[in-house]
Amino acid sequence: MSASRSEVHIRTKSRRQALQVVSASAAMALMPKFLRGETVAPLRVVVVGAGAFGGWTALALQRRGAQVTLVDAWGAGHSRSSSGDETRIIRSVYNGDPVYTDMVLRAASGWKEAEERWGRRVFHKTGAIYMFEGDDAFARSSLPLARARGITVEPLTLEEARHRFPQIRFAEVRTAYWEPDAGYLLARGSCELVREEFVRIGGTWRVASAKPGAVEADRMRSVQLSDGDRLEADAFVFACGPWLGKLFPDAIGDGIVPTRQDIIYFGTAPGDQRYDESRFPVWINFGARLLYGIPGNERRGFKVGDDSAGEVVDPTTLERVVSPNALRIARAILARRFPGLVGAAVAETRVCQYEFSPTGDFLLDRHPGASNAWLAGGGSGHGFKMGPAVGDDMARLVLDGTPTATKFSYGRFEAARAARRKASGKRTHS
Ligand SMILES: Cc1cc2nc3c(=O)[nH]c(=O)nc-3n(C[C@H](O)[C@H](O)[C@H](O)COP(=O)(O)OP(=O)(O)OC[C@H]3O[C@@H](n4cnc5c(N)ncnc54)[C@H](O)[C@@H]3O)c2cc1C
Repeated sequence: MSASRSEVHIRTKSRRQALQVVSASAAMALMPKFLRGETVAPLRVVVVGAGAFGGWTALALQRRGAQVTLVDAWGAGHSRSSSGDETRIIRSVYNGDPVYTDMVLRAASGWKEAEERWGRRVFHKTGAIYMFEGDDAFARSSLPLARARGITVEPLTLEEARHRFPQIRFAEVRTAYWEPDAGYLLARGSCELVREEFVRIGGTWRVASAKPGAVEADRMRSVQLSDGDRLEADAFVFACGPWLGKLFPDAIGDGIVPTRQDIIYFGTAPGDQRYDESRFPVWINFGARLLYGIPGNERRGFKVGDDSAGEVVDPTTLERVVSPNALRIARAILARRFPGLVGAAVAETRVCQYEFSPTGDFLLDRHPGASNAWLAGGGSGHGFKMGPAVGDDMARLVLDGTPTATKFSYGRFEAARAARRKASGKRTHS
């Protein structure tokens, strides 16, 4: 256990005192009995949020014998959630980071097992091409790790790349890499499949907005639902995506920032299948901006997204109309990379939001002020693929007290949030 793991932050009554650090042994004494192995299941757990993080967490907890109620304000994978678009990329190239690379491998097994249980296909193996107009360290640094883990990532000469994908114009591309086992996942569709399985195995599903209850003697007793019900439980998990800061203004606040992200689906010419998944891969273009896309799937069109963080938004009230600037940027990459799509009409648009943590890493840890409440969020634009692994990690954290990776700890999140606020000249706690 590293130093940061051995510390647990608790909230004091005084707002000025804010967060205090107590020793690991004191924290043990504060733990609910079930965390010390003194009670037996079924443990009653409420999970708030049925996106990728909360849905998979509820399912994992229920599969492990807990008695779980999953609550969402609008439903699983709804249009305003970060998980609510049609598709999300799954790839193993992760800037050489072993924690995320190993997590993708676990998640990929989880998706496969779930597909078998559901009898439905949600993973589409198209392969992914990474194109670099400048420094390619993101892929290059991943090669030794990929080799060690048995993941295929091939550097492509530009000649090979042109030969494989004549639909792509490689002007300005200096290097390219190919990951044949990457692809995309059905996003909102799989959130609903997770929810359905959760209900099938005995979980309780509620559509309502939930408000965290008061914390007494270091424990949360209940959450208050918008329909008037109050749900009592032994443990609570809040997986509220871009809403997490609103629910916990002190513990999270501006630590998780919802930013606007526009997505455009372009329609191909009648009968033109060159950009469909049968002939075209997931692509990521590292240039002045990081742009990415997913080939035509389920007749929705050729998807183009921009990874640059947009303006800060309120995920409840955001008007989800794509901006002229986003359309201009998407058309510019079509013109530079995909000449067969120049002039393609917009078939559909989506406006989603990232939920950025200060480090870009997930937050998967205990709430600093309640020993029986946990937080799962900070997907930061790359969390969807990890759903099954996040669910398993959260279930082990809640049921067994097994810590997640240090980089997902609240201590690290809070330190980075404080540093960011200091750098921008703001007070850490109000
Ligand atoms: C444009 C875009 C592209 C992305 N691309 C990728 C990609 O290619 N690959 C990848 O892996 N990831 C990608 N991501 C990131 C990924 O989609 C997110 O990290 C992930 O979906 C976050 O899931 P979540 O469960 O944390 O949040 P959400 O999906 O937002 O779920 C949170 C849920 O909590 C509910 N909720 C909130 N507050 C309350 C409350 N008080 N009461 C009840 N319910 C509440 C909400 O209704 C919502 O359903 C992308 C994200 C965006 C926006």
